[in-house]
Amino acid sequence: MSFISNANLETADKEIFDLVEQECERQTDHLEMIASENFTSPAVMETMGSVFTNKYAEGYPYKRYYGGCEFADKAEQLAIDRACEIFGCNYANVQPHSGSQANGAVYAALLKAGDKILGMDLSHGGHLTHGSKPSFSGKNYSAFYYGVELDGRINYDRVLDIAKIVQPKIIVCGASAYAREIDFKRFREIADEVGAILFADIAHIAGLVAAGEHMSPFPYADVVTTTTHKTLRGPRGGMIMCNDEDIAKKINSAIFPGLQGGPLVHVMAAKAVAFKEILAPEWKAYAKQVKANAAVLGKVLMDRGYDIVSNGTDNHLVLVSFLNKDFSGKDADAALGNAGITVNKNTVPGETRSPFVTSGIRVGSPALTARGMKEAEFEVIGNKICDVLDDINNTDLQANIKEELKQLARNFVIYNKSTY
Ligand SMILES: *Cc1c(COP(=O)(O)O)cnc(C)c1O
Repeated sequence: MSFISNANLETADKEIFDLVEQECERQTDHLEMIASENFTSPAVMETMGSVFTNKYAEGYPYKRYYGGCEFADKAEQLAIDRACEIFGCNYANVQPHSGSQANGAVYAALLKAGDKILGMDLSHGGHLTHGSKPSFSGKNYSAFYYGVELDGRINYDRVLDIAKIVQPKIIVCGASAYAREIDFKRFREIADEVGAILFADIAHIAGLVAAGEHMSPFPYADVVTTTTHKTLRGPRGGMIMCNDEDIAKKINSAIFPGLQGGPLVHVMAAKAVAFKEILAPEWKAYAKQVKANAAVLGKVLMDRGYDIVSNGTDNHLVLVSFLNKDFSGKDADAALGNAGITVNKNTVPGETRSPFVTSGIRVGSPALTARGMKEAEFEVIGNKICDVLDDINNTDLQANIKEELKQLARNFVIYNKSTY
């Protein structure tokens, strides 16, 4: 595999060159199981490193504030058209620099300061931008929350009860750490009962939705946001979609000039490239494999006596609970890290430890699936995770497993050093 070379960087800045090399080695030799991460393609990375990074293109395609946008226009329009084709919607804004920016624009477009929003509690799997206090969403708006029951699932009747009391202007559905299918149709009914706008944030599951492997938020949600770098496997960024012209206009003004200046043309072009990959027939197989791999992981962990929140998964991740263990999510995260497996600590329903310690870990399949790993590899990895957790203070074992897994990982190389 040979694509953009780092030859110029090596002479221009050896310090950063070395860090890029080391990061590539880390990404190759460790097993990346953070549920929100993925490996984007060399073609997407080439586009991100292209001359489009030099271009100012404030405004939207064919309506710009700068000259020389004829190629930027076409690149952004391709990204928009492909996004609409993938998700079956009428309008897409591909300019948000991140998922959080996309969410900020939705609120800015549809709410006034102090308006009520109802989102999923961060500690139950929601995202910071769904009304959490340290985020702009919890500071600028009056935020209320729903969560999961002790069985780890959203109880939609309970959400309705809360919505009736709160009377929110917007209901946010979507999560960062929820292993079950989100029922957008049911959320629509709840929103209709209380006269709220339904906002679906599919940042985590978008790649599955794109393949028809998760229920689509369309036609139920009024507005939909996503990141493009998680299960969509594209460049780091955000996107906003809808079917209503009036909402689309408000969203566009909220992004520019409301929140952002010049769009990242190189990233929008790279989004277009990623979307083309998603529209190819292989995408469906990838999304199916992501789910199959997560299911194997959940099964191995449960077979070996570990608690999985909601006793399984419908998507790309499992939440492992250590509520009944004498070690924490933080301990597990560190021990697995020593064994070459990258995960993140995560709160679980009924949490008893602090958010910095937690009683769980979130483990995802998208990145390793992108490297070509299948059920057999996930069975091996699941068992290694259990070996580490069973004897969590055994640092010799962790070091041995790290070496073994490095060999496994090197059979699934995705990038070569000095050639990206
Ligand atoms: C990751 C995520 C975001 C934010 O994405 P960033 O690009 O990190 O800002 C928003 N919502 C959900 C549900 C997410 O999981």
